Amino acid sequence: MEIESFVQHMLTLADSFDTSDIHILPEESHYAAYYRLHGRMDRQFVLDREEANRLIAYFKFVSNMDVGERRKPQSGSLSYQLKDQIIDLRFSTISNYHAHESLVIRLLKQKNQKDLTMNAFFDHEVKELNRLVSHKSGLILFSGPVDSGKTTTIYQLIKKRLSVEKLQVVTVEDPVEIHEEQFLQTEVNEKAGITYERLLKSSLRHHPDVLIVGEIRDEETAKMVIRGALTGHLMIASIHAKDANGVIPRMMELGISLELLKQTLIGIVFQKLLPLYCPLCIGHCHTFCHNYRHSQKRAVLFEMIMKENLEEVFIQDKPFVAESSVSVKRRFNHLLKKVQLYGYISEKTYQQYLIP
Ligand SMILES: [Zn+2]
Repeated sequence: MEIESFVQHMLTLADSFDTSDIHILPEESHYAAYYRLHGRMDRQFVLDREEANRLIAYFKFVSNMDVGERRKPQSGSLSYQLKDQIIDLRFSTISNYHAHESLVIRLLKQKNQKDLTMNAFFDHEVKELNRLVSHKSGLILFSGPVDSGKTTTIYQLIKKRLSVEKLQVVTVEDPVEIHEEQFLQTEVNEKAGITYERLLKSSLRHHPDVLIVGEIRDEETAKMVIRGALTGHLMIASIHAKDANGVIPRMMELGISLELLKQTLIGIVFQKLLPLYCPLCIGHCHTFCHNYRHSQKRAVLFEMIMKENLEEVFIQDKPFVAESSVSVKRRFNHLLKKVQLYGYISEKTYQQYLIP
């Protein structure tokens, strides 16, 4: 195996599939390389241990990691020339208890306009989202699993708003996933001492109209996001939670009172990206099938808590929206059932994406 030509082949293939990451993982007696395709891990190559070790060592070398260090987790990055384009690659290594290293490569490429089109099941939520992001100030919290298209949704909404009015938009991300010329995008760089907190603080001093925060990860970032909303900015942030109802309790866990949320929070958006049922593939649409285009093999299902439903939370002084509330028809599981009954997704996908 000639390393450099294999690397070129592996990355070209990954790029043509539009995959977001490549996982090179140790298995019982060998290694396997998986691509994450439309939310699933797809096995692409089997490598013997020696080949995999050489491949991992190669990537560690070119991304300025310590090649000799095989036990401690490391991370690195590289801009890679792939034919006529440059893609940014992010690497992270970790070892299992047998000291077999695994490597994850994230591919960050300039996504074109087409890919940014929001592929949503229902118009109702898209209209509500457009209304929500037209606020001058306040806090909007997005939640959903990794690779559920949150960044795409947020970017799409703000870009639409920018097409009718001039605004200063700043983003704080780790890393920047979608390049967007109209935004001032900033990125965490721990090695250079540019931490999340520092970036957030300096971004707020920039007085943007809209500040997009990649992720609220701790008490400090939660506080800063609230401060931004209180001082007249539109703050849009992601936070980890199991469903829309889990967002307020999560913020409270991070030390934010219900009272402060009452003053700032204007909407909660939860989303998942579901694989569409393909009649040709009789299930998820395969990579090589042309029934759906690459970017349209999945669609977004939203659940939103805003206006009267949000007020209900604050009036009753409890962090949940009651199941009996009028909005039940727009709750995630209800809409999920609906898209299954319409035949957009399979029964299996329904079971898989149902929120317990
Ligand atoms: Zn198909």
